[in-house]
Amino acid sequence: MKKPKTFKPQSQELPGQQSKMVPEPEVIRQGYEGADKLRGKVALITGGDSGIGRSVAVYFAREGANVAINYLNEVKDAKDTQKMVEAEGGKCVLIKGDIRSESFCKKVVETTVKKLGGLNILVNNAAVQFPKDSLDGISSKQLLETFETNIFSFFHLSKAALPHFKDGDTIINTSSVTTYRGSEHLVDYASTKGAIVGFTRSLAKMLAPKKIRVNGVAPGPIWTPLIPATFDDVTKFGQDTALGRAGQPSEVAPAYVFLASEDSSYITGQFIHVNGGEIVGG
Ligand code: NAD
Ligand code: MG
Repeated sequence: MKKPKTFKPQSQELPGQQSKMVPEPEVIRQGYEGADKLRGKVALITGGDSGIGRSVAVYFAREGANVAINYLNEVKDAKDTQKMVEAEGGKCVLIKGDIRSESFCKKVVETTVKKLGGLNILVNNAAVQFPKDSLDGISSKQLLETFETNIFSFFHLSKAALPHFKDGDTIINTSSVTTYRGSEHLVDYASTKGAIVGFTRSLAKMLAPKKIRVNGVAPGPIWTPLIPATFDDVTKFGQDTALGRAGQPSEVAPAYVFLASEDSSYITGQFIHVNGGEIVGG
């Protein structure tokens, strides 16, 4: 697929719908060949209905995994992802609901284990963002929603998943370039994404003796439903990167395959920066 450099004006409500985006993001690179890197593994992916999470689900399935995806309420997007995973020969369990609730997070993990026979890979990926240009604009309600969704849920889900994990199993957390470079429009969101970095590094050390690895991906501007659902002007989205364009989810998900598979067996507590060329530390 030729990667677009500009986008038509468009806007949506949160959570955005992939099926309503123009053009729809590329889910998997044409010609990507699976190599059984995740054969026999079970993955749970939050926000797996769309965007980066959908691509991770489809790449994981092409690598031989079965997947469970959690999503807030985007039924059509979730069913579309399920069809794509099944077309790869994988099973796909859909689990709808709000991961701000700790008891629901436990249910998500239990459902995954019951329906797919275990859990080896947890991808903490769901998030919200509400751009605001002043601190006054960030209400306590918004602050709580952003932290509960973007980082508290990572604690709830990791806690629930751990009892099922064995040697070689992994957690992968989605952060963002905004935390590394700072973002004047997304102070609360970037703060949660920084918390995810601390969480990942610390949990990696805590779980290393159990041979469970914890890593993350820090994407730059990626063409997903989150973008038209939260930014006023998407027309030049991603043009300020070194590569001069937004990334597609299909270009992000292979980093998750690497971090989930044995190829990264000596890597823990680290982030891969899939951001179109922004040089950031850590
Ligand atoms: P997306 O809208 O496709 O995915 C976000 C998902 O989060 C949604 O599908 C939604 O179902 C889920 N979600 C939101 N609130 C929830 C809740 N309370 N309970 C359960 N699920 C909930 O957008 P995306 O861009 O693919 O986002 C995936 C991750 O990538 C997020 O962590 C985001 O912060 C991160 N990220 C995206 C970009 C980008 O430019 N798109 C850049 C950096 C980081
Ligand atoms: Mg979605």
